[in-house]
Amino acid sequence: MAEAALSRALPGDLIEIAMTDDTRPFWEAAREERLVAQACDNCGTFRMPPSPMCPACRSRASHWPTLSGKGVLYSYTIAHKLPFPDHPGELFHVPALVELPDAGGVRLYASLVNVAETDIRIGMPLSVIWVEAAADGWKAPAFIPAPR
Ligand SMILES: [Zn+2]
Repeated sequence: MAEAALSRALPGDLIEIAMTDDTRPFWEAAREERLVAQACDNCGTFRMPPSPMCPACRSRASHWPTLSGKGVLYSYTIAHKLPFPDHPGELFHVPALVELPDAGGVRLYASLVNVAETDIRIGMPLSVIWVEAAADGWKAPAFIPAPR
């Protein structure tokens, strides 16, 4: 029996990071392979995606604690083709919504990689890894099944 195909990240040269003043701290930490999330200085509420104001207390002050890198699979879909008309190649790619338990349960979109389709389970524990994204050394988080 052939080994099951494992999911892969999108090729880094096809990724373009859209960075704003609000998201810059996330990407700069990612470049150092640290997973962070924005937290309110006043009430501690985490928020993802980053935003200028806390939705809970309206404070504009925030900080970016480094997280454990652990996640839980909340939802996912499976793509078998690259979503770029100029690059019609085959790909087994799993865009996933990953819950971050040590950031108040906020959810982050990232690729789920190195997993066979039949092994994917909602609620499965995950660990962050880092993949090349765009040029100039930028990196993006991706997730793999957590070691047991
Ligand atoms: Zn707040």
